[in-house]
Amino acid sequence: MIVDVHTHTPRHREAAPADGAVNAAWRPDQARPTSLTWAEQMAALERVDRAIVFNIAADPRVENEPWDLMYAAREVNDDTAAFVRAYPDKLIGFLSVHPHDPGALVEMERATQELGLRGVKLGPNYQNFDPLGPEAFLVFRRAEELGLPILFHQGTSPNRFADLDYAHPRHIDRVAMAFPELRMILAHMAHPWQADCIAVIRKHPHVYADISAQFYRPWSYYNAFRLAHEWGVMGKLLFGSDLPIATPNETMDALGTVNAITEGTALPRVPEREMEAILHRDSLRLLGLA
Ligand SMILES: [Zn+2]
Repeated sequence: MIVDVHTHTPRHREAAPADGAVNAAWRPDQARPTSLTWAEQMAALERVDRAIVFNIAADPRVENEPWDLMYAAREVNDDTAAFVRAYPDKLIGFLSVHPHDPGALVEMERATQELGLRGVKLGPNYQNFDPLGPEAFLVFRRAEELGLPILFHQGTSPNRFADLDYAHPRHIDRVAMAFPELRMILAHMAHPWQADCIAVIRKHPHVYADISAQFYRPWSYYNAFRLAHEWGVMGKLLFGSDLPIATPNETMDALGTVNAITEGTALPRVPEREMEAILHRDSLRLLGLA
C-alpha cells in the first residue's frame, strides 16, 4: 500500500483562480500551480492508495494572509472535510487550528467529532507561534489525549515573514519529551536542516519525518538520505509529496534516482532497498490511523 502523508486540500472545487504558479524559490526546476481542482488533485493521486490532506489555519491576529492555502480555521477544516467526504476511500483529513485562537480546543473537538478529521497540521513559522509556548502546548496535549498525530511544517520557507526559528526541528525534541505518546511528522525532513531532523527522530519512537519537496535539490536530497542511512533512521521516513508543490508520481520516481549524483565519483550510495521501503511503509499504522 502506498500512503502519501502530505497533500494540501484544493481550496476551490472547480476551477482554481489563475493567479498562477509557485515561483523558483519553491520549485527551482519548474513552475507548479498553487492549487488544483478536486478532479486534478485526485488524478495526481492515482498511484497512491491513501492520502492525508490538510490546509493551515490562519493567524487570527492578522487581517489578511498572503497565501492561498492558509485561511480561517473553521473554513479550512470544513473544506478538508468536504473533500474527504467526496473521496472517503482514499483521503484522510487533518484539521488545523491556531494555538493563539481562544477557540482552538473547541475547534479541535468540532473538527474531530463532527467532521471526522483524524490528525492535525500546523506550520509554526507560517502561523507565527512559538512551538514551545504555553498556547501550543495546550494544543499538543489535546492532540495527545485524542490520539491525533500532528504534521508540522519544518525547515525553511521563502516566505519573508515566516520565522525560521519556529520551524527548526530541534524544538520538537522538547515537544516529544513533554508528550511522549504524541505521534508527530516533521515535514520535508526539515530541509535544509535534515541533520537536525535526524537527531530528533532517532531518539523519539513516535516522531517521524516525511520526504516531501526535496528531490529537486539533488545534492541536498542525496545528503539527506545518506545521513538518514548512516544514523539508522531510514525506517522513520514516510512517503509524502506536498501536492500541489510536487506530485506523488515525481516523488516516487525520484526515489530511484537518489544515487544519480554519485555516478563517476567515489561517493557512497544510498541502499536502493531502503529507498524502496519508504514507498511501501505502513504509515497509517505508525501514526495510529490504521
Ligand atoms: Zn506542505
